[in-house]
Amino acid sequence: MTTELKHHWQPAERQRHAIAGPLPGGRQHGEGETLDTLCGRRVVAAESNELNWLWPTCDDCMEVAKERVGAKT
Ligand SMILES: [Zn+2]
Repeated sequence: MTTELKHHWQPAERQRHAIAGPLPGGRQHGEGETLDTLCGRRVVAAESNELNWLWPTCDDCMEVAKERVGAKT
């Protein structure tokens, strides 16, 4: 069993997108940081706050994320 993160989630552009790999240094992304998402978009990270985490999950990222962790849909 591995605890290594295959991806992590980040609020960006009014959705929560998944980003490949573990969080660099275990820290949060900063607001305004440009990130490549699992759904193939390039988004600008939003501030990681309680409100932004309530944004809907990006469906495309969720599909890719499920595949990456080997989940059967
Ligand atoms: Zn996405």
